[in-house]
Amino acid sequence: MSTLRILNPANGEAIAELAADDQASVAIKAAAARAAQPAWAARPLDERKACLDRFRDGVVRELEQLAVTLTRETGKPIRMSRNELNGLLARIDFFVGMAAPVTASETVLDEGGMQERIEHVPLGVVGNISAWNYPWFVGCNVIVPALLTGNAVLYKPSEYATLTGREIARLLHHAGVPRDVFVPLVGAGPVGAALLAQKIDGLFFTGSHATGLRIAQAVGSRFVKLQLELGGKDPTYVCDDADPQSAAQSLADGAMYNTGQSCCSVERIYVHEKIHDAFLAAFVETVKGFAVGDPMREDTYIGPLTRAAQLDVLDAQVADAKAQGATLHTGGHRLPGPGNWYAPTVFSNAHHGMALMKEESFGPIIGIQKVAGDEEAVRLMNDTRYGLTAGVYTPSGERAQAVLSRVQAGSLYWNCCDRVSPRLPWSGFGDSGIGVTLSTYGIETFTRPRAWHLKSPPDRA
Ligand code: NAD
Repeated sequence: MSTLRILNPANGEAIAELAADDQASVAIKAAAARAAQPAWAARPLDERKACLDRFRDGVVRELEQLAVTLTRETGKPIRMSRNELNGLLARIDFFVGMAAPVTASETVLDEGGMQERIEHVPLGVVGNISAWNYPWFVGCNVIVPALLTGNAVLYKPSEYATLTGREIARLLHHAGVPRDVFVPLVGAGPVGAALLAQKIDGLFFTGSHATGLRIAQAVGSRFVKLQLELGGKDPTYVCDDADPQSAAQSLADGAMYNTGQSCCSVERIYVHEKIHDAFLAAFVETVKGFAVGDPMREDTYIGPLTRAAQLDVLDAQVADAKAQGATLHTGGHRLPGPGNWYAPTVFSNAHHGMALMKEESFGPIIGIQKVAGDEEAVRLMNDTRYGLTAGVYTPSGERAQAVLSRVQAGSLYWNCCDRVSPRLPWSGFGDSGIGVTLSTYGIETFTRPRAWHLKSPPDRA
C-alpha cells in the first residue's frame, strides 16, 4: 500500500505518514457513495441542516486544536489559522440559512388547470478536489452546500492539507453525516485522477490553472458538470487622490497575508505617478515591519511557504525582474532553512515584460509600477489572462466605479482588497476559472433544476 508523508514546511520534519488511496479503493468508495446518496437526499432538509449545525459546533469546540493542525501542516501563521476557522462559521451559517429558500420549489404558472413548477434536485455524487492554502474555506465552500442540497461528496483534499481534510471528515461524520455520504480520499495528483475516472455527476475543483486544464480535459467528454476555481494575478490601482499611507498599509497586508498564498492576494500594484514615491516608502516600511518566523508564534505574520517548489518560482521571478531593471527594496532571496522560507520582497519599476507582473507568484513578493493615469491603469489591469479580483484606492466612489467597471474580474474592491464574503458570488473571468461558489448561486450550483408540467384532470362533475 502506498503512503502519503506529511512534512512541516516550517522545519521540514515529517509529522505524519498516512495510508493513501489507490485506483481500487477510490472505485469502491465511489460505488458506496453512489449507493448511499439517494437516502441522504430523501432525508428532510432540516435533518441535513442539523448535521451541518453540529459540524459547526464541532469546529467551535475544537477550534484551537484544529488551528494548530492547520499551522503544522501548511505553515499558516497560527493567528491566521484561527481567523480562517472563525471565518468559516459565518459561511456555514449563510449556507444553512439560505438552503431552504434557494432550493424551494417554485410555481411559475398556475392558470386554467395548468401548473408549471421548478424543482431543485441534487446533482448526485460530486467530486471535490481541493487546494491547501485555505483548506477549510475552499473545502467547505463545496462540501457544506453540496451536502445540504442532498449530494454525496467524494473529497480529495490537497496532499499539503490532508490532516485538515481528515479533521473535516471526522467532524462531519461525528455530526451525523453518513460515512458513505461524505468520503475523504488520501493522496496526491494520481488519487485526484482516480476520482475523475469514477462515475460522478459534478466535479468542483480549486487549484492551479495547469491542473484545472487537465481536469477539464479528463471529464469534458463525459458532460460532467464542472467548476474550476483557479489562480489569479490580481491588480490594484492607487489613484493620485488616495491617501498613500493608508493605501500602502492595506495593500501590504493584501499582498503578504498568508505569506502571499491567497488566490485573491494582491499580486501587482499600479500607483499614480503623483503619489508613487510616498506610497512606495510607506509600503516598504510596512513590509519591513512584518514579523517573519515560527508560524506557531502569536506575533508571526510571515511564515514558510507551504510548498517547497514555489521557492523556485519566486527565485525565477526575482532574477527576471532584476535582469529587466526592476528596483529591489527589500527581500529578493530565500531565508536559511530547514523549511521553505522566503524573505518578503518588494520591487518597484516593474513592467509587463516581467513574469512578476504577468504570472501568479503565490508568495510574499510584489511588483509596483508607476502609471500616468486611469487609462493606463485600466489597460494594464486588463493585460492578463486571469480575472479573479481587482481593486482601486480613491476617495471618489465615482472614479472607482468608472475604473472598475472596465476591468475584467469576478470581484471588484473599492478601498479594500483580499476579501471574500459568503453573501457574494466568488468566480473568475478568463483563466481564473468557470462556475461560482458562495452566495445563493453557490448553493444552487449543486442542484439541477427540473421542470414539472402539471395538468389537472378535466372536471367531470
Ligand atoms: P494544484 O493544482 O497543484 O493542486 C490542487 C489539487 O489538485 C490537489 O488536491 C492536487 O492533489 C490535485 N491534483 C493534482 N494533479 C491532479 C490531476 N492530474 N488530476 C486530479 N487532481 C490533481 O494547486 P494547489 O497548489 O493546491 O493550489 C494553489 C492554486 O490554487 C493557486 O493557483 C491558487 O490561486 C489556486 N486557488 C484558487 C482559489 C479560487 O477560489 N479561485 C482558491 C484557492 C486557491
